[in-house]
Amino acid sequence: MTHAPHPAPGALDRPNLFGLEREALAEILAPFTARAFHASQIYRWMYGRRVADPAAMTDLPAALRATLADRFRIEWPSILERRDSVDGSRKYLLRLEDAGEIEAVYIVYGSRITLCLSSQIGCPLACRFCLTGTMGLVRNLTPGEIVGQVLAVARDKAFEPGSARIVFMGMGEPLNNYDAVLAAFRIMVDEKGPGIPPRRVTLSTAGLVPGIERLAREAPRPRLAISLAAADDALRDDLMPINRKYDLARLIAACRSLPLAPREHVTFEYVLLDGKNDRAEDATRLARLLRGLRSKVNVIPYNEAGVAEFRTPSQAKAERFRDALKTRGVTATIRWSKGRDIGAACGQLVRTASPA
Ligand code: SAH
Repeated sequence: MTHAPHPAPGALDRPNLFGLEREALAEILAPFTARAFHASQIYRWMYGRRVADPAAMTDLPAALRATLADRFRIEWPSILERRDSVDGSRKYLLRLEDAGEIEAVYIVYGSRITLCLSSQIGCPLACRFCLTGTMGLVRNLTPGEIVGQVLAVARDKAFEPGSARIVFMGMGEPLNNYDAVLAAFRIMVDEKGPGIPPRRVTLSTAGLVPGIERLAREAPRPRLAISLAAADDALRDDLMPINRKYDLARLIAACRSLPLAPREHVTFEYVLLDGKNDRAEDATRLARLLRGLRSKVNVIPYNEAGVAEFRTPSQAKAERFRDALKTRGVTATIRWSKGRDIGAACGQLVRTASPA
């Protein structure tokens, strides 16, 4: 089940139901059935049972199954390529309808499965240490292309997505594609769909403050992670150009005003760049910045990914940095990225624009 056949001529004229939320699905199906629960059944078949073939939707009337087959499609991204890492993670190259390609990563830590999803093809933010940033933004993904990553991987690896964790840490800036990402999130956490508990979904942002403020008003909403990379504006301006628009004061203020659930915290990802942001004073600044905020820091040693200028710090330096945070009262862990050998690690996801 790798290469999905290319759609038959004219197939793309039929609307794809995959990616629609409950209401939109009910609306589009209304002319074809008088019974509202039929839309719920189809919702469950698609997102809960990962079935795309109307003929297999056995509790629907035969006429409705025929209508689905004639007038609509149910399609999610197909798997073009898989690469397995020695550490058990697997990188997927997925093909979209317009022949665009994205990557999703399956990661295992012990018995815990995490899926790292993409939200855009490319990314507009151009963080200097990130390979995806060199692509620029090609386009936003649709809700179906985002949820579809979960389904494609769950089918391939034969696990129930309800037991997995989801991180929006693949290609793209999720808050730059807010509506589609939130629509996909609502489908993922729906009990009639994949049924992933909302607290197991983490959205990571480079710091789009208006998006964080909007997220604060959603219920349910994903957990929040912030990619920090620097604890002072001068350095952050340089590493992450988005900081020139939303500086650290605004970013941290937005995090502070996020109403946290019991035991919830905001995660800060701090990519550790040898000799750039790993000094004792950087740890001191970082601790000061986060004071009083329920947070934890993931120190991610930089993966050498093709940006010549940066280097991976030694393990000893990474540990020294983490310990400096800890002695200043910050909860911190080092995250050595998985999947480095297959180009699946943080900051290594990149595709060149594919010929149509
Ligand atoms: N745009 C969102 C989602 C991507 S998350 C965001 O920025 O949060 C990708 C994570 O990988 C970010 O935390 C980033 O800091 C980190 N990263 C990027 N390039 C990296 C590299 N080469 N090595 C290690 N981490 C990297």
